[in-house]
Amino acid sequence: MPDFSLGKLIVLGAIIAVVWYGWKYAQRVEQVRRALKEEIDRRRAGTPQARNRPAEDLVKCTACGIYVPAQGARACGRADCPWPR
Ligand SMILES: [Zn+2]
Repeated sequence: MPDFSLGKLIVLGAIIAVVWYGWKYAQRVEQVRRALKEEIDRRRAGTPQARNRPAEDLVKCTACGIYVPAQGARACGRADCPWPR
């Protein structure tokens, strides 16, 4: 007949608790690691819109110095701006 003394039961309960919380902690770490990996992969791949958008040429305004899209450039408001209003 095994001896189920109170001291041994407390030690057994402590061991079970350590294993249980250790397991839950490991699960949580794994969950966070997986979420981080997904986030990194998502950022590395980029959003679909950003990937499919073609590069647009920019031209510098000789009057104000700002860069505007070459297609459909608009005047910045200055009188000597080369772009149409
Ligand atoms: Zn301008």
